[in-house]
Amino acid sequence: MGFVSKELLAKHNVIEDVFDYKDLDIDEKILKIYSYFENSFLELYGSYADLFKIKDYCFYIKDNNKCNAFALTRKGYNIIGITNGYPILLSQKLDEKYFRSIVLAGIGNDEPLQKAYIDLYEDREFVFDKFILDCSIKFTFNHEFQHIMQFSSSKLKRNDFLLQENWAEDNFDIKLHAWEFDADRMASYEVLKYVFRTHANFKVKSDEKLKCLLYVGCASMIITNCLFYFGVMNQLGPQLSVRKLEFYEKKFSHPHPLVRCINIMEYYFDSITTDLPRLKMDSQELLNNTLVITKLYFNMLIPTQNVIT
Ligand SMILES: [Zn+2]
Repeated sequence: MGFVSKELLAKHNVIEDVFDYKDLDIDEKILKIYSYFENSFLELYGSYADLFKIKDYCFYIKDNNKCNAFALTRKGYNIIGITNGYPILLSQKLDEKYFRSIVLAGIGNDEPLQKAYIDLYEDREFVFDKFILDCSIKFTFNHEFQHIMQFSSSKLKRNDFLLQENWAEDNFDIKLHAWEFDADRMASYEVLKYVFRTHANFKVKSDEKLKCLLYVGCASMIITNCLFYFGVMNQLGPQLSVRKLEFYEKKFSHPHPLVRCINIMEYYFDSITTDLPRLKMDSQELLNNTLVITKLYFNMLIPTQNVIT
């Protein structure tokens, strides 16, 4: 069997706490957010499950207000889920108003790249915040999908495996840290492919425009990670209070967010260099642009504190 419905799995107690937003009397805007995330994940899971011959797969939204995503294998079913907090919290954090100054990231680059930022900003068919949200969703989906692949190739052959994305104070396990590293790398590569496809669909293409999109795509992954690092992802605002996660190495369920950021950027850069040698990507330029975009965003999100210096 290919796709399995959440209703069937809930009926057989494979999954619990299924959140069905369609049953709720909620306003149109929230409804749209839920259906956008649900459709994105369903579409992605459908195509990747096909491609990698994953059978008996299911996606569902779990009733939980925190921002989280997870991969689960239970009774032979391959399940990817998000919490109902995730679409609301993430779309609120990546709101259009926080990216109004993104074009300023062009300053400091040479003129053709500056112009590429402006062209994208003025392009009516391209929306920065939507692109950043889509890159973030792609990243999270592909990270979870890689866990599904890890489960199916694992020699452990455990029947019940759950990996959640929200940082948790679980016991440290080096193998699980390695799985997280691997999932982040595969996910960053899928974001790279998505950026490349987005550029290919532009009527007017240029190397500078592609570079600009690559920087913004990278910033999307770093911003998503930093929202957890600064402890603001699960806050609804308007005043966010920053609680930076102390640095650690051999602790907890996931590698420290900053270590994950470095891993993601390293792999992303190596993949660009290998797959797009013509671009002559400069690692310093990638780092500078990613950090400037991230800084411009956090200055708007948390104007009371300078979180990235
Ligand atoms: Zn993970």
